[in-house]
Amino acid sequence: METASRESAREILYGYLAGKGLRKTTQRDAIIEAAFSTKEHFKAEELLVMARKIDLSVSRATVYRTLPLLVESGLLRELDLGGETKLYDPNFLEHPTHNHLVCVDCKKIIEFEDINMELLENCITRRLGFSPTNKMVKIEAHCDELRQHGQCAKRATGSEG
Ligand SMILES: [Zn+2]
Ligand SMILES: [Zn+2]
Repeated sequence: METASRESAREILYGYLAGKGLRKTTQRDAIIEAAFSTKEHFKAEELLVMARKIDLSVSRATVYRTLPLLVESGLLRELDLGGETKLYDPNFLEHPTHNHLVCVDCKKIIEFEDINMELLENCITRRLGFSPTNKMVKIEAHCDELRQHGQCAKRATGSEG
């Protein structure tokens, strides 16, 4: 599954690059490999670290030049979930309609999909006279666990955000 999605990611990106007259490079390959071998949301600097594990010659400049191409070609989604750094989300290829719940206590991000939400969003958008293209819902929430037990279990694995 993961390999298949990386393969199609590569095809989509190289199709997009060809249209812009840009060539494929082993560094771009390593960046795609890194971006789509994880289900986690990542920051640009984290992608750099992951890509360098695959190909040491990947430079920061290449990562920062390639990221917008990945976003423009629709492979990665840029997320603004309220942290001070932009996050990139590799999961829209396989789950194009997923949404995010953010724990305001530990900043943990939980992905969810719900067919009812999908229908409702489409209905609302159409009712207002638009055709839905790009939808993302963010829910900020407190953990029930924190409220009941005074501790958030997600805190251990959550990042500082
Ligand atoms: Zn996501
Ligand atoms: Zn939490």
